[in-house]
Amino acid sequence: MATNMTTVDISDEEARLLDDTNKDFFNNGKTDIKCPRCGGAIVLAQFGTSYAIGCEHNCVNIVYRGI
Ligand SMILES: [Zn+2]
Repeated sequence: MATNMTTVDISDEEARLLDDTNKDFFNNGKTDIKCPRCGGAIVLAQFGTSYAIGCEHNCVNIVYRGI
């Protein structure tokens, strides 16, 4: 697993949920998991060798750095 960091403060529970979402994206190309704070969609954004997974409204996210 790539190292990761957050750009917003999230709880351990929220970090686990985003990790589950990450696995969903890799296994299924999509996820049914919703943002724990606002119920919005969780989206994946790729930039260079890094990518971020988080709420579409940016309440929660994790950045996964280079593979
Ligand atoms: Zn949200």
